[in-house]
Amino acid sequence: MSLLAAYHRLPVPLQECALSLYGARLRVMRYGGVQRDRLAWLRQTEQLPEGSLAQLQRELLAETLRHAARTVPYYRALKLPVPASADDAVACLRHWPILEKKTIQEQPDAFVSDLADRKRLVEIHTGGTTGRALVVYADRSSLQQNYAFFERLKRWAGIGEWDRVATFAGRPVVPPAQPNPPYWRRNYAANQLLCSSYHIGPTSIPHYVDALASFAPRLIDSYPSSLEPLARWMLQTGDQRVRPAAIITSSETLLPESRAVIEEAFRCRVFDQYGSAEMVGFVSQCEHRSYHEHVEYGFLELLNESLEWTRDGEEGEIVSTGFLNRAMPLVRYRMGDMAVRSSAACACGRGYPRLDRVIGRLDDVVITPDGRRVGRLDPIFKAVSTLHEARIVQTELDCVDVEIVAGRGFRNADGEALLAELRLRLGPSMKLQIKMVDAIPRTGRGKLRTVERRLAQEPSTDTGVTGTPS
Ligand SMILES: [Zn+2]
Repeated sequence: MSLLAAYHRLPVPLQECALSLYGARLRVMRYGGVQRDRLAWLRQTEQLPEGSLAQLQRELLAETLRHAARTVPYYRALKLPVPASADDAVACLRHWPILEKKTIQEQPDAFVSDLADRKRLVEIHTGGTTGRALVVYADRSSLQQNYAFFERLKRWAGIGEWDRVATFAGRPVVPPAQPNPPYWRRNYAANQLLCSSYHIGPTSIPHYVDALASFAPRLIDSYPSSLEPLARWMLQTGDQRVRPAAIITSSETLLPESRAVIEEAFRCRVFDQYGSAEMVGFVSQCEHRSYHEHVEYGFLELLNESLEWTRDGEEGEIVSTGFLNRAMPLVRYRMGDMAVRSSAACACGRGYPRLDRVIGRLDDVVITPDGRRVGRLDPIFKAVSTLHEARIVQTELDCVDVEIVAGRGFRNADGEALLAELRLRLGPSMKLQIKMVDAIPRTGRGKLRTVERRLAQEPSTDTGVTGTPS
């Protein structure tokens, strides 16, 4: 039995004990070491004028390129130009190749720095746009720095370190077939309510709202697709009990309509954040709604089809160079999303470059027979490393095909493992089948959509609320 299956069999209080122990361990790792010093430093650098921040970013970029060229086998072999000072960092960078995810997948070890202590590295598994897992190795210090950036964003949103947080994310904290509430679990180590993103549907929404009202979080940290149905229901029923001080959204494109509905229902500001598990870039909104590039985190470029930098207002693909992870520095990593730059100053006064918007990719959702809209399914591909590529196609309201292009070492059991992960999220009433294919077609921009819905007739786009509770 897997650890997750064992966890799912425990009674809820024991599940909460297990989660809290696990949460305490994570907290020590993420908030120990350099985290506090980094956060204090970031609270100072955010006050620097624009020119000083740009200079600081060039220094960090030069340092990163020198470190990568000297200590990372992949980059050393390419004999790339190395900056002598901050002043020629950007000119050098533009001679470095764009880094594709598959290049790392083919030879992950070649990207690990000679200076890294391999026994102490943490593996980060990412799903991402190509439907094939990527493993990135990170040192603990980079994870702690990463959390310093997240904590700084919380401060911008007026949230303290120990304030109560309700989280909706892609973790299966609640057994998939559990028909009744609670669809959430407490993590006492972090004063957190972990809510399942996979049980949100017409009949469960009132229970979620009750739980949030009684937990009274200061912050809700969520995918937009989890909060929006709750927000719509709250507006329809006039329920105003859930009043967080702020909401942070991430991992999905936040559409303007979704933002408007969420802000109206919860009566607070949404701070949208964009980044990636590979830790190459960090973008977030400030109090004045501008998207800012956090320049102490990485160097973000927007490229057009000819791989030139875009002008203001022009859509470009995001490639970014991360400064945090010395164990596996990734330079000009292609993130698979689009954004638009803006040179307008922000009323917050910070000197960070602005993005007009992050367009991202619009993940399709699967709609279950009981009316749940399940988004953010690509984490399931993290479970299986022998896939070349995969895609989820919903062909009927109760039928989902998983198209698989097998990679080296793929076995039938891997397909079964994938179906089991999918069943965790879509529930027992969905018929799932695997289709082995030779290739998966791309969209016009050469991208793979990992989730696609092909229903002859679309169910209502309403949240499926059938009535108001009495
Ligand atoms: Zn701002």
